[in-house]
Amino acid sequence: YLVSGQKIYITYGEHDMAKNIVHLVLARTPDAPEGVKGISLFVVPKFLVNADGSLGERNDVHCISIEHKLGIKASPTAVLQFGDHGGATGYLVGEENRGLEYMFVMMNAARFAVGMQGIAVAERAYQKAVQYAKDRVQSRDLAGSPGPVAIIHQPDVKRMLMTMRGYIEASRALAYYAAAAYDAQHASPDEASRKQSQAVYEFLVPIVKGFSTEMSIEVASLGVQVHGGMGFIEETGAAQHYRDARILTIYEGTTAIQANDLIGRKTVRDGGATAKLFSEKIQQTEKDLASSGTADAKAALKQLTAARIAFESAVEFIVANSKTDVKAVYAGSFAYLRLCGLILGAWQMARALLAAQELRAGDPNFYDAKIATARFFAENLLPQSQALATSILESGHSTNALSAEQF
Ligand SMILES: Cc1cc2nc3c(=O)[nH]c(=O)nc-3n(C[C@H](O)[C@H](O)[C@H](O)COP(=O)(O)OP(=O)(O)OC[C@H]3O[C@@H](n4cnc5c(N)ncnc54)[C@H](O)[C@@H]3O)c2cc1C
Repeated sequence: YLVSGQKIYITYGEHDMAKNIVHLVLARTPDAPEGVKGISLFVVPKFLVNADGSLGERNDVHCISIEHKLGIKASPTAVLQFGDHGGATGYLVGEENRGLEYMFVMMNAARFAVGMQGIAVAERAYQKAVQYAKDRVQSRDLAGSPGPVAIIHQPDVKRMLMTMRGYIEASRALAYYAAAAYDAQHASPDEASRKQSQAVYEFLVPIVKGFSTEMSIEVASLGVQVHGGMGFIEETGAAQHYRDARILTIYEGTTAIQANDLIGRKTVRDGGATAKLFSEKIQQTEKDLASSGTADAKAALKQLTAARIAFESAVEFIVANSKTDVKAVYAGSFAYLRLCGLILGAWQMARALLAAQELRAGDPNFYDAKIATARFFAENLLPQSQALATSILESGHSTNALSAEQF
């Protein structure tokens, strides 16, 4: 095939780290059906490859620009021009018109991976903030001290560090839970359990992508705040994490696209069955927390139960109204994604709390920190669930109230 046209936003579309660059390109054949059903997938190499594997002629695909960006500046984002000199040679992958389906194999893996990218950037922002908070001496201790102390002793700095740490640990635990479901989907010997693991994994992918990346922006922003004025000065590196995190809620599908997927394909399509399965799993953890009976477990239980009820009310509203009041339901899609991230993250943290209580003797310092972080997540971050459920159930009409002209 001879491919022509222009592609923008091509990550690593041009670089000098390899002798050849193999582009996977979605394009339409001349008589393809309208819309997404007419998209095919092609391999278009920068250099054509000879029969013996050596590099041959330069193909007619050229980088005409590298974008200037807010962040991820080490990642070249190319504008590629195909076929200005007669057509770029492309080789069809698989069958014609099935390109979008093939692309989604990559896309589903990429969405999970971008979620992990969010966790990684957030983790680095946290490490840097902790280091700075221990080094920076400013103000006396609230409980009294002979002179100024490191800012890590101030309760509000602890609040920021605990928030960062809580979001990161919860998002990471949830991503690992999703990864285990993916493995079980492929490796479980039992057909029914493979099916259930698949539903669990597919439900979690938009949450791992959407929640972990939204939280990474929040965490990186807190990282800047912990540094005070120095956070705004490039030298400390805190601002770079904030700028780098900003793309993560955009590429491989914006948060809104993840939230639409979570509502439409993952919640409504099966009548809320997978969402209810999570609710049952959370109730099992509530029972475990109750039988543990420690003060930490009781504190986590109180918040987890309240948040689970809020989650159930949101699921019920979405399933009941998705046909009759679709715009009101989708007005709450972002809040629903965030609510799912919070409740499922808190559930993982509660499981971690229980495990840490069992294992405590092996490494008290580590496990006590795990227990404290899980309790903080439940008491400080998870209560947002109530507000999110209210906005899902109540604000659909006010969100949609203004006409386009009224903006
Ligand atoms: C640095 C960078 C690297 C990239 N790398 C690649 C790459 O290598 N390959 C590649 O193919 N693409 C790449 N992209 C493209 C990227 O995936 C898209 O920019 C992204 O998916 C958003 O699409 P869009 O830009 O068309 O935004 P739009 O779709 O125009 O979205 C604009 C706004 O409208 C909202 N919106 C749009 N539709 C809906 C809807 N149905 N419901 C609710 N809200 C909606 C969005 O959430 C967003 O807030 C890259 C982009 C950037 C910036």
